[in-house]
Amino acid sequence: MKNTDDKLISRNIKPTAMRELVFDILTEQTAAISLSDLEQNFQKSDKVTLYRTLKTFENKKLIHSIDDGTGSVKYALCAENCQCNPHDLHVHFFCTKCKHTYCLNDTPIPSVTLPLDFEIKTINMVVKGTCANCKE
Ligand SMILES: [Zn+2]
Ligand SMILES: [Zn+2]
Ligand SMILES: [Zn+2]
Repeated sequence: MKNTDDKLISRNIKPTAMRELVFDILTEQTAAISLSDLEQNFQKSDKVTLYRTLKTFENKKLIHSIDDGTGSVKYALCAENCQCNPHDLHVHFFCTKCKHTYCLNDTPIPSVTLPLDFEIKTINMVVKGTCANCKE
């Protein structure tokens, strides 16, 4: 648990048993997970507590949320020094076969040219297709 605590503390999050658990589950994921996916990991789950935990993590930039167009928000861990600025953001990939959403951490979002006086706050870029696991 030590390592988990360090990671939480480095983002100014007070470690609690619940937060440690949620963080560990997020660390194990190969794809982004939704609140209901997360809930499956708990036998007696309190959705409100889980939701609050995710929101705390998101506010502290430990995780980021992804709108992949499926209607349920997904969450994934941020890179170590991520500040969730537009230039920190990466492309997400939604596999239409297995319905998993992946962080393409090595694929930065291409720069976007905006008209005068338009300002970027956030960018959400989702590429759809088939992932390596689903390739025929
Ligand atoms: Zn981030
Ligand atoms: Zn797939
Ligand atoms: Zn991501």
